[in-house]
Amino acid sequence: VVKDPDILQTALAEADPVILLMAYAQLTGDLAPLEEARPFIRLAKEQQPDDIPRAIMQGVRERLSTLLADGSRGEASLSDQQYAKMAATCAGDDIPANYLPMLLDISGVKTQTPVKAIRAPRAFRVLIIGAGLSGIAMAVFLKGAGVDFLIVERGKEVGGVWAANSYPGCGVDTASHFYSYSFDQNPDWSRHFALQPEIKRYIAACVERFGIAEHVRLATTVTGVRFDDGAKTWSATLAGPNGAETITASAVVSAVGQLSEPFYPSIPGLASFEGDVAHTGAWPNDFDYANKRVALIGTGASSVQVGPTIAPAVQRLLVFQRSAQWFNSRTGYHKPVTEGQRWAFRNIPGYSAWFRLRLAWQFGDLIWPALFVDANPDDGVAVSRANDALRRQWIAYMQDRLAGRPDLLEKTMPTYPPLTKRPPVDNGWFEMLRRDNVELITDRITACGPHSITTGDGVSHDVDVIILATGFQASRMLQSIQVKGRDGQDLRDLWSEDDPRAYLGIAVPGFPNFFVMYGPNTNLGHGGNIIFHAECQANYILSGLSRLFASGRQVFEVKPQVFDKFNDELDARLGQTVWSTPGVSSSFKNSKGKVRSVSPWRIEEYWRMTRALDPEEYIWA
Ligand SMILES: Cc1cc2nc3c(=O)[nH]c(=O)nc-3n(C[C@H](O)[C@H](O)[C@H](O)COP(=O)(O)OP(=O)(O)OC[C@H]3O[C@@H](n4cnc5c(N)ncnc54)[C@H](O)[C@@H]3O)c2cc1C
Repeated sequence: VVKDPDILQTALAEADPVILLMAYAQLTGDLAPLEEARPFIRLAKEQQPDDIPRAIMQGVRERLSTLLADGSRGEASLSDQQYAKMAATCAGDDIPANYLPMLLDISGVKTQTPVKAIRAPRAFRVLIIGAGLSGIAMAVFLKGAGVDFLIVERGKEVGGVWAANSYPGCGVDTASHFYSYSFDQNPDWSRHFALQPEIKRYIAACVERFGIAEHVRLATTVTGVRFDDGAKTWSATLAGPNGAETITASAVVSAVGQLSEPFYPSIPGLASFEGDVAHTGAWPNDFDYANKRVALIGTGASSVQVGPTIAPAVQRLLVFQRSAQWFNSRTGYHKPVTEGQRWAFRNIPGYSAWFRLRLAWQFGDLIWPALFVDANPDDGVAVSRANDALRRQWIAYMQDRLAGRPDLLEKTMPTYPPLTKRPPVDNGWFEMLRRDNVELITDRITACGPHSITTGDGVSHDVDVIILATGFQASRMLQSIQVKGRDGQDLRDLWSEDDPRAYLGIAVPGFPNFFVMYGPNTNLGHGGNIIFHAECQANYILSGLSRLFASGRQVFEVKPQVFDKFNDELDARLGQTVWSTPGVSSSFKNSKGKVRSVSPWRIEEYWRMTRALDPEEYIWA
């Protein structure tokens, strides 16, 4: 029973009308108001607050008010057909039948991934390397299933990139009510796109809530893992506060992330620079930029977050741009979640899950077709109709932001197709460029002196501190760990420096009971989010372990022909995408220009591919 009627009224007034309609339908089984409102519901991005006629909403608010005041938490029993209708209305779009199970699952409306207890042999223990969002997802799945595990994390705290990237303005560009675990939705996000400290707190709280903390060993680096062919177990060498140690594990899950090793550019003379230098991916808490002449090198996602945040506080900001970027914009990027809305997330049954479903559709596969280059070169479009439509939209956005500044527009307009690189979300970038204390420099950096940076035009720019927003070594996966599989095979020989390959981004032939999360070609460049992928991977790995325990065998590894076929299909698909555009470097490509970071699958395809491990695709021993 709601004790404070005012907060209920505030919540109903502030809550998203579309989601109130969903919650009402789910509580009562009465879909009539939803049907009435259906013609007025659009995609989340396009919906305006007063689109749905007042009379419809008033009735629903009144009925919800009575129901919730009485503490009704019951749920009507709805048929699959009703769920399908509700999901489409909620998304504001037609939803193809193949998407429905995924959307219901990842939103938590009707989860399909209940973690069941599985019968693990008593001595079976999984070693998880890394306590970022992927490693923790794996841990929660294992814990739920009753499988023993240990997480070894080299950092002093859990959180992965959300612990390492503490630069001013750091945050998500995926909506927070979607960028969170489906099994641990957070009703308390203070913003629709949360900043790093809040995400870090969310992760730490999750570790406590699921009883993971006692399984985590911090400040300890895994330096190598080696498969013992005789015992069919793995031994891992660790370097921690008490020196080196070797432990044994039955299976190893690498969750070291694609973005955990900062990329430091080789600028001649950088070592001689006498001021402070900070990489956004390893941000020192005491980095002082106030009233200084700051060089910001790079214009990718991190730069776009840090630049506008610090610009008002610095004396001068010199932005060094190597290549121009396309920009995404997000409605409500800086918007707080009001108290009433938070109450709704916390207290209205179904509210959080339906809200998430609407986001999952909007930020799912909608722009996926724009990744692909049209097979027909004579149709008058540069890449494809979908990609060109995006290009026109994004050009219009830039023209609007830089109206009256043709000089800046010329410097910032990309010459490659949209989506070729990951587009940052505009965090006030163009307003920042218009500031008097900001200068955009597009000449290449050639050298660094004790107090300056020189560019190709021969100009020496005086600076006090340098911020390297130069990204990560995404394709050099697992390079910091020596992984030796069956018959002493070294993963580095197979992957060389930066050519990683794995079946579904997870499994490699010759490496039994060894699994990779956020592995090759599992980054996302069009939609979805990495937490979603982590849950897909954790589910898949657990389904394999479950099979293993049922089989009475000790290990399983993917068949080489399955791996090869998958990679052939992957390459064929990648070859059709804008990511493979020749002559454009991006973090999605390795040093040879091969796309090794990002996934060409629709998120719905990947969800389906990772539902359950197919035993026929593996060798069991
Ligand atoms: C600034 C920033 C913003 C981002 N925003 C988004 C977003 O909006 N949406 C989105 O989908 N994704 C985003 N990402 C991508 C992000 O990387 C993933 O979403 C996700 O956090 C990755 O989690 P992870 O656990 O796989 O990897 P990480 O978070 O990188 O965690 C890996 C962990 O492994 C540890 N580790 C590495 N090597 C070893 C070793 N040898 N021994 C022990 N421990 C080791 C690391 O210390 C780290 O803690 C963003 C990334 C960054 C950097």
